[in-house]
Amino acid sequence: MNLKIIGYHYVRTKSYSKFKSLNFLDKKDFIEQIKFISKNYKIISLNELLNHKKLKKENALLTFDDGYIDHYEIVFPILKKYKIPAIFFAPEKTLKQKDFLDVNKLQLILSKFNDRKKLFKLIESDLRKIINVDYYLKLQKKLSKDYDHRWHDNYTNIIRNFLQYLLPIKIRKKIINSYFLKTIDNDPKKLIKNFYLSFNNAKEMLSDDICFGSHGSDHEWLEFLNYKEQYNDILKSKNNLLNLGVKEKQLTMCYPYGSYNKDTIKILRKLNFKYGFANKYGVVKNLDKNRFELPRVDTNEF
Ligand SMILES: [Zn+2]
Repeated sequence: MNLKIIGYHYVRTKSYSKFKSLNFLDKKDFIEQIKFISKNYKIISLNELLNHKKLKKENALLTFDDGYIDHYEIVFPILKKYKIPAIFFAPEKTLKQKDFLDVNKLQLILSKFNDRKKLFKLIESDLRKIINVDYYLKLQKKLSKDYDHRWHDNYTNIIRNFLQYLLPIKIRKKIINSYFLKTIDNDPKKLIKNFYLSFNNAKEMLSDDICFGSHGSDHEWLEFLNYKEQYNDILKSKNNLLNLGVKEKQLTMCYPYGSYNKDTIKILRKLNFKYGFANKYGVVKNLDKNRFELPRVDTNEF
């Protein structure tokens, strides 16, 4: 048996969103894609994944990250119409519509600043007043990952890495927030309902075919958190899923940014999770091997 796991983010139409500047997969292309996948693969549900002994030949699993409202308003009706199963990975924070994720705040900031060098210089001058920026620039060089360069220019990488994990958490959140508030011209509390699906939406979506999995609580780079921080983040998200109606035997985790380490896997075992999805290219051939490092491809790479 072969299993291809496919990851999606935004799926929408041009006229759909106020946030026109974000990259998205068009609804029409999405429909074409799932028609193609249905023709060539058996699209399996989480329950079929858990009973995988019965799987034959070519299988695919559709997964949707970050709990966007698109998943409720656009994807869910299509899946229902074509009777296609899927797993949705929504952070606890977005399901409760507490705040925008930092990753989305940053996307919205970047979408307003085409000149990334200029943006970095602005952030840098804010930072110079409070921290030793050169120390973090050196760290950035050491930690910056190869895959960064596939997608972004140098200044965009530095901004992303600084604001997603390199700077101390309080400082990075403060910087992201101040630029985010300058970027949007509305109250974030009003915008949030147009951005993420709610706990009640998720409840309505939940069925034999459609399940929810963990994407952490605060959508952090887990590899940069210590054991206790990771444990608390994953536990909060697990409890939220159980409240939603996900069963203990159905627990799966998709690592935010594809980031995890040995501690993450230890914690998932301890908290009784069944599978963990990473962002790396590949096809699953044996579901009993490396259960917590299943490869998953982005829809753009499929
Ligand atoms: Zn994510």
